[in-house]
Formats: sequence, structure tokens, C-alpha cells
Amino acid sequence: MDADFLTDLRAIVGDSYVVTDPVARFAYRQDASLFGGTDAAVIARPASTDEVSRVMALAFRHAVPVVVRGGGSSIYGQPPGVPGENLLLDMTRMNRILNMNPQGMTVTAEAGIIMSRLQHACNSAGFYLFVPAAPVHTVSLGGWLSGAAGGGGIWWEIISITAVLPDGTVVRTGGGPGTHVRQTEAYSRIMGGPDFTGMFIGDGGSFGVKTEVTVRLLGLPAVTRASILVFRSLDRVLDLMARHVARVSPHPFDPLLVFGPGANELFSADGSGADLFTVMALMQGHTPAETDARRDAFEAIADELGGGHTPELDALAGMMSRAPDQESEMEMFGLGFFNGLGLAAWLPFNMPRTRMAEVYPLLVQWREERIAEAGRRGFECQARFEFMAPSDQCSVTGEVDAFFKDVPSLELRAFVREMILDYQKFTHELGLLDVYNQGMMSRLNAACWSDGYRALYSTVKQAIDPKRILNRGLWLERPPEPGV
Ligand SMILES: Cc1cc2nc3c(=O)[nH]c(=O)nc-3n(C[C@H](O)[C@H](O)[C@H](O)COP(=O)(O)OP(=O)(O)OC[C@H]3O[C@@H](n4cnc5c(N)ncnc54)[C@H](O)[C@@H]3O)c2cc1C
Repeated sequence: MDADFLTDLRAIVGDSYVVTDPVARFAYRQDASLFGGTDAAVIARPASTDEVSRVMALAFRHAVPVVVRGGGSSIYGQPPGVPGENLLLDMTRMNRILNMNPQGMTVTAEAGIIMSRLQHACNSAGFYLFVPAAPVHTVSLGGWLSGAAGGGGIWWEIISITAVLPDGTVVRTGGGPGTHVRQTEAYSRIMGGPDFTGMFIGDGGSFGVKTEVTVRLLGLPAVTRASILVFRSLDRVLDLMARHVARVSPHPFDPLLVFGPGANELFSADGSGADLFTVMALMQGHTPAETDARRDAFEAIADELGGGHTPELDALAGMMSRAPDQESEMEMFGLGFFNGLGLAAWLPFNMPRTRMAEVYPLLVQWREERIAEAGRRGFECQARFEFMAPSDQCSVTGEVDAFFKDVPSLELRAFVREMILDYQKFTHELGLLDVYNQGMMSRLNAACWSDGYRALYSTVKQAIDPKRILNRGLWLERPPEPGV
């Protein structure tokens, strides 16, 4: 890497925040996925939008490839950029809350902030930030938005994004200051111009480096009521789901979580739940009367559809009927639980709710065939986990995961990587889409784009990144070979 470039980079972000040593570079080649991090020549940790802007302008002048990293918890790997030549921007130093606006009910934070920290700050100020069951202690706000992770999550609440374009230009979207020069605060994403906020959501980070984000908040609900029932047939569960989403929005306050037979087997000490679906409805509200009424209305429908109660599940529902300040604990429990199951073949899906009955059994059948093949190759599957939840009125997000014994085995890791890729190809053939716009998943998605969609993406990308320096290897690009 050019010595002048490194000198200028150090002058912008400070000597202590630029590293080139092999140990640090090795660490950044890892991430939470089986697909890997980024092979960087240098890592910089900027502290402000201004620094990111100056760094991008410098990289643009020198045509240095740049890869952005948040929490490193992508399921499908990081953008490869140009292996061995990348400047990696680690965004996690940009972790400040810039403005908590209780009257306007918004929060503005830097994009490198870890979600659990943002959630905690919002809760402490009496506000609710919708964070679905993701690893909130590692995921950053910017990474989450770039990967469009989270099902029907937080994206709709995003009002404004500050993004640095590949040439260093700073843009602020969303109707407030930066979009409309006479506005003093961001309060509505779609006013004052086209919805460019949406353009930066789910882009994988290929259009710009997100540095600041304004999110709309809700009042923190003080009351939770849970209702947990068992069903013997998926059709009944889907009827219940349809009637639930026709009455209330499942997000943010009335999520419906469905666990399949494999998950039930793990939950029950004697494996007795292995032919059941368990439905967990969580109602969150501001008063007991309001929340009880929603719980009662839900239970009346569930009863009508033949939902069964057990003393154990009723007791669990009673324990969960408490103030929703325990999300962080639930999250830690979830991570510990999954880590204990073995090497994960994450097999997620997102599909129209109306196709669930037809398609879901095919996904489970596909998994079972692969598990049988794994067995023939000497790999032992020790757990299955099925989960689904309506992400909104129209769609269902879920997983039909498998977990394998012997985590360190390189052969097993290669097998699971192939399994994940093949599963996604299979689901694409069925017309489904996974929720994540990141790593290798972006390329699988882009392979299915229509001509018009492809042309639009290419035109926008070419216009704002003519030297193709930012997050190379996503969407339409093959991952480049070293030295390309
Ligand atoms: C065990 C596990 C379980 C998970 N479960 C869930 C779940 O239940 N629900 C869910 O929603 N998600 C889940 N996820 C996925 C996770 O939420 C997403 O992958 C999320 O996008 C990761 O955010 P990150 O900050 O770690 O991003 P990274 O992995 O660092 O980056 C992801 C992408 O975003 C880009 N990027 C990061 N920051 C920026 C920025 N500031 N500007 C521009 N581009 C940027 C990167 O270049 C990369 O392309 C899970 C992940 C793991 C490992």
C-alpha cells in the first residue's frame, strides 16, 4: 500500500486508529459466519462523519478498495473487496447517541453503535426500540440496516440516514436538515424529496457508508401478557396467524412466535413435543386493561381453532407476563442455547404468508434429505430447530435449522457451508427470498434480478461509485481474485 496514502490516513483518523499488523488483519478476516471476513491491508477506525468523508475522499483519489464493517455478525460473510488490498473501515468507534428527542419521539445515533446499547438508552428514556431476536450485543445499527436484517423490523422506523458516498460526499436523507434546507429536525422520511433513505437500507453497504441514523420511537410498554398454546396441525397455526395479523400488527407490540416439532423436542425433557407446533403470543401494552383485552381476544380465537393448554406452558406464560425490560437477558439466553446445539446450518426463509402451507413441508423435507446425506458422510445432526413468525400482515420469516456435532471439523464446516448455499438456491427456485442482503446472499439474490432491476442497480452504482471502490464483491459482482 502507498506510503503517502497511509500517512494521510493516519493524519485523518489518528495514529492509534490505523493498524496494519498481521495479527489485527487476521482478526478481521474472521466473522460470525462460515463465509469469512475481509482480507484487509489496513484497518482504520474513524470517529466521525467528517473523518469518514475525508477517508473516503482519500481512498477515492487513490482508487483504494474500501470495505465497511459493523459488528461482523453477518450470516453470509463480509464483502471481499479486493483481498489483500482493502482499507477496512471498522465503524464501532462511532457509537454515540447524538440526540434523544423525547418530545419528537426520535433518537439519532452514530451507525457503529451496537444495538443493545441503543436499545438500553431508549428504554432508559422511556422509549421502545423494536429489535427482533437478533444478536443485539454484536450487531451494529449500520450493519443491521445495510443487511436489511430483522424481518419486518426496524427499517420502517428509520427516518433519516447520513451516508458518505464513495467520493466522500456527505448526504443526509429524510426530509429534515440536509434534505430540505429550511427544516430543523428530521421527522418524516418521505417529505421533501424522493425516499433516498430506502435506497441505503438493504444495500449491503454498496451505495455509501452509513454514519448517522435517526429512528422513530414508541412509548415503552409497561405491561406484557403471554399466551402459549400447542397445535397438532400447521394448517391451524396458519389460520391463527391469518386471524391474528388481520386484527393487529404483529410488530412491534403483538409478535406471534411459532416453534416447530424439532424445537419442541429440544424444549421438552422427554422429547414428547416432537409432533407439535407451539405458538407463543406476546402482547405488550401500556395498561393492564388494554393488554388483557388483547390477550383474551387472541385466546378466544386460539381456543376456537383447537389450541391446547398445558400446565407447564401456562406457568411459563405467567412468568413471561411481566415488564418487557428483560429482552437483553432473553438474548443472552438465546445465544447460549444455540451455541450449545453445535455447528449451525442456518436455514432461514421469508415468504408470502399465503404460500406457507404449500412450501414449508418442502423445506423440512429438503433439510431431512441433507441430514440423511450428512449421516452417510459420518456427520451427526444432534438438533433441529424450526421457528416462524409473521413479519407483517403479508409475510412470514422463519428458519428450519439443523445443528451438527463436532464443531471444529473442517470437513463438517465445508459440508455445512455447501448446505447453506444449496438451501438458498433451492428456496430461490421455490420463489422465496431470504431476509439478508449481505455477503454471498446478495449475489444469490442478484442472480434472480430482472433486466430492469439489474440496469437500475448498475446505473446507480456506476454513478456514485465510478471507480468501484466501495464494498466490492456484492450483488452483481463476482468476488474478485487477489490482485484484481
Ligand atoms: C448467530 C446469529 C444469529 C442471528 N440471528 C438473527 C436474527 O434472529 N434476526 C436478525 O435480524 N438477524 C440475525 N442475525 C444477523 C445479523 O443481525 C445481521 O447479519 C446484521 O446485518 C449484522 O450486523 P453487523 O453490524 O454485525 O454487520 P456486519 O457483519 O459487520 O456487516 C454486514 C454488512 O453491512 C455492511 N455494513 C456494516 N456497517 C455498515 C455501515 N455503517 N455503512 C455501510 N455498510 C455497513 C458491511 O459492509 C456488510 O456488507 C444473526 C446473526 C448471527 C451470527
